[in-house]
Amino acid sequence: MPERISKIRKEQVSKRARYCCEYCRSQADYSPDPFSVEHIIPVTKKGTNDLDNLAYSCQGCNNRKYNHIEAIDPVTNTVVSLFHPRQQRWADHFQWNPSQTMITGLTPTGRATIQKLDLNRKGVVNLRYLLVLIGEHPPP
Ligand SMILES: [Zn+2]
Repeated sequence: MPERISKIRKEQVSKRARYCCEYCRSQADYSPDPFSVEHIIPVTKKGTNDLDNLAYSCQGCNNRKYNHIEAIDPVTNTVVSLFHPRQQRWADHFQWNPSQTMITGLTPTGRATIQKLDLNRKGVVNLRYLLVLIGEHPPP
């Protein structure tokens, strides 16, 4: 069991992610809920506190990801790995729809992650819509 993630390490991870959820791309500055630093490979599956196993995540994504590392791709109906923010690039697996309010999956991993973490939750989509109007979404 690794020790708690240090405050300094949490700040490193948050800064590296530019304070955006590494899954749904929500911005901490526009969220009523606190964000967290999560283990990409969960501690229960021998994940460590190394920087390359940590990701910045909104509470909604973190709760849904829980201790999962795989999910079902709804198109091929096969079990695939969830998106790994340290080993994969967001833009290789996801893209914004034309209105930039919905995330669409480009790969089995992208589609499975969207479904498992519910990356297009109603409240998040509504917030994206408002942030597009003021030029604050999508994040850079
Ligand atoms: Zn999120």
